[in-house]
Amino acid sequence: TTTAVYTGRFAPSPTGPLHEGSLLAALASCLEARAHNGRWLLRMEDVDAPRTQPGAADHILRQLEAFGFEWDGEVLWQSQRLEAYQHSLDQLCQRGLAYPCGCSRREIADSALRAPDGSLRYPGTCREGLPAGRSPRAWRCRTDAALIEWQDALQGLQHERLAESTGDFVLLRADGQFAYQLAVVVDDAWQGVTHIVRGADLLDSTGRQYHLQRLLELPHPAWTHLPVLTNAAGEKLSKQTLAAPIESTRAADQLAMALRRLGQPAPAGLEAEGLAAVWAWARANWSLARIPRQRTLAPAAPNPD
Ligand code: GLU
Repeated sequence: TTTAVYTGRFAPSPTGPLHEGSLLAALASCLEARAHNGRWLLRMEDVDAPRTQPGAADHILRQLEAFGFEWDGEVLWQSQRLEAYQHSLDQLCQRGLAYPCGCSRREIADSALRAPDGSLRYPGTCREGLPAGRSPRAWRCRTDAALIEWQDALQGLQHERLAESTGDFVLLRADGQFAYQLAVVVDDAWQGVTHIVRGADLLDSTGRQYHLQRLLELPHPAWTHLPVLTNAAGEKLSKQTLAAPIESTRAADQLAMALRRLGQPAPAGLEAEGLAAVWAWARANWSLARIPRQRTLAPAAPNPD
């Protein structure tokens, strides 16, 4: 028998440049893979064409290179993987595990089913067949009330019942775009990803991904959800909250700051020794156990300049 080699990945969405928040996920996923003598892959999640910003993917690749990240193999582009997503969707449909939905966003909102966190839960209108006169808009994955449980390396035991949280969720959107949930599951399996290290903002996607892995008979990876940086208003740093991009001219400083935010005791003045020294210290001293077991890190330290 062979054990799968540790395989981690970083999977940015090219909706804008990398910022200090995304740097934490890139750094932690990379260092954790290297600490296991594993592979670290890069996947460009450009599956959502309307949200993809022209030039952002190239910008991200240049930022990663300037910060000294070295990934294994070729970058996987989700925009090249549509046939694989369609194939998985077809499989689910043939087995009755996915179905067409004719509801508009408005109708779902009006049906007033809300999950405990306030997000919309699909009421199941089309799950026994499209109502007469309706044509398919989106395709949904069938869910149930089973308890889904998984252990997160930092956040502890997690559980979710999809029938109570999201309900039957979208796999192919009404605008013809495959949903992140499907693409991420298909690609993590195809690339042999064994360990996912990413921001805790994706904890509430993990249940849906676990469910899809089970339906598609794919292995579950191990999950580590990092605390996410928030701004002074307590919002996750994101392109939407206009987080400042990371800057290659300050790579050593920003990398050292990212390490400290991840609980790694980088010695004072390390950044002054340059980028190579920061990486050398990080690779020699990295410890997942030191990462704060929180969902958020607030507020992000202001830029010194
Ligand atoms: N592309 C997603 C993002 O940038 C991350 C996906 C993942 O790590 O599973 O938020």
